[in-house]
Amino acid sequence: MKEVIKALNIVKYFGKTRILDNVSLEAHRGRIAVIMGPNGSGKSTLLKILALLIPPDDGRLEIDDSPIDFDNELEKRSLQKKIAYLPQRPPVLSASIFNNIYLPLRLRGASKEEAKKTTESILSMLRLKEYAKINAHRLSGGQKQLLAIGRTLALNPEILLFDEPTASLAPNTAEIVQDIVKRYVKEKNCYAVIVSHSITEAKKIADDLYVLVSGKIKERFSGQISEEEILKWI
Ligand code: ADP
Ligand code: MG
Repeated sequence: MKEVIKALNIVKYFGKTRILDNVSLEAHRGRIAVIMGPNGSGKSTLLKILALLIPPDDGRLEIDDSPIDFDNELEKRSLQKKIAYLPQRPPVLSASIFNNIYLPLRLRGASKEEAKKTTESILSMLRLKEYAKINAHRLSGGQKQLLAIGRTLALNPEILLFDEPTASLAPNTAEIVQDIVKRYVKEKNCYAVIVSHSITEAKKIADDLYVLVSGKIKERFSGQISEEEILKWI
């Protein structure tokens, strides 16, 4: 079995507009694939397809050599349990910061003890431990983002799909998130596709980088990333 997530010639229309035009992309275990591109280029749409939230109109998606059947709700739901999809501006629960992480873990079947231990370790990793009892709605935008990232990682996903995870974060908090994501992907040897707004971030975390412009992949880098080449498009 080849361990790769493959999007092959993905096409997506909204109405009559071709939003994604034959997009192909690969994400490999233990590597971070980053998607960059101007506003409206189709990055979020592509990520939603990878998260099995919307079907493509043409092309296919394969995970570990298995083609995904977007009509098979059962298969999609079972795969989605392995996926951590973080939308742009993710919502938080109107509950304590602690419960924002603890409750989803309990819902997934973790024991009280297990859920408490994981929640505490995630909160300390995010440097939110001292705020544990505060209602999540009282957090700043950046802290909410941090909490949402922690909540997804607590569920021990095998596939990270993050849409501009650091866009609302101060530079030092963004660095914490980048380090956490990088460490998680390397340690767990999992898949990651991250949409990014920042070249600095891409250079720091990307093993493979795709530049999406008007629904088409215009550049692809593996390893050495040329800032000049990216700036031509963004
Ligand atoms: P990006 O994330 O790169 O900014 P998006 O994937 O959000 O781009 O959007 C790509 C294009 O598709 C934009 O022109 C946007 O207006 C359009 N679009 C996105 N979602 C929808 C939708 N649900 N219905 C109609 N048009 C949409
Ligand atoms: Mg977007």
